[in-house]
Amino acid sequence: MSLPQVDSTADSSARLVCNVCDASVPVGDGLETADVPSNVRRFRGESFAVWRCPACRCIHARDDVNLDHYYQDYPFQQQRLDAITRAFFCVSLKRLRRGGLRLDHSLLDYGCGSGLFLAFLRGRGFAAARGYDAFAEKFHAPALLDATYQCVFSQDVLEHAAAPRELLALFDQLAAPGGLIVIGTPNATAVDLSRSADCIHTLHQPYHRTILTKAALIACGRGLGWTVVRHYDTPYVNTRVPFLNVRTWNRYSRAHDNTLDLAFEPIRVNRALLTWGTLFDGLFGSLRCPATDVMVLFRKGIRS
Ligand SMILES: [Zn+2]
Repeated sequence: MSLPQVDSTADSSARLVCNVCDASVPVGDGLETADVPSNVRRFRGESFAVWRCPACRCIHARDDVNLDHYYQDYPFQQQRLDAITRAFFCVSLKRLRRGGLRLDHSLLDYGCGSGLFLAFLRGRGFAAARGYDAFAEKFHAPALLDATYQCVFSQDVLEHAAAPRELLALFDQLAAPGGLIVIGTPNATAVDLSRSADCIHTLHQPYHRTILTKAALIACGRGLGWTVVRHYDTPYVNTRVPFLNVRTWNRYSRAHDNTLDLAFEPIRVNRALLTWGTLFDGLFGSLRCPATDVMVLFRKGIRS
């Protein structure tokens, strides 16, 4: 596994190694870094160091942490397949269809969590959809990784991986020749580490280990022989449904305690939200979404 790590063997000064482009970077003045508070309420009092590779601009969590500890009672475990989640998933499915996904295609949702998107797809008639998640007992079936699929879908997984290039190589193995590989992940280009407090949901510490730039993701995919079919600069949770967009979420979370937990709790309207700005963002925010995420639909070559 290739966690970003301090390498002190090259010379007397410590260096960090980028697990995306292999750059070896001296620690010290000039290195772009930040201490970022967790956006999970339980750990809000803890901060975590991140650094940006000066060569490829990807962002890395600096220190190894006991992730088992932080994933206990992870807020996403509270997500349900309700009307809001379905509206989000409709965005993902629309993108998949535009990329060429058909009802009869086999699909693997890699890192499917509790399987909500899988259940959504099956409810829409995608009978050959499967889900794999190494951390979910229900979906931890290693045999699924021995097959190939006409679509490999992975939303909000790559950034959690200790070794993103190895994960992309696994996706290459899992995709059938000519198959789609769809990756949704935060975009490091959108993050200003000098204003990291404004980006705590994108940085999502300590869970996000490596945040690639869109350019780095595309370069990695092309390095595996994939071609880009389509790409999007906004997350699937930015919908045209009034108030279900990123700008409204940012406004809502800042009107409370700015934690991710809010997304899975009953909606609470307070005085800070009773503004014309909230109404404007609620109605038109989806058209002004910051490019905090990227989704790239790749196609694997026919010959592999
Ligand atoms: Zn790099």
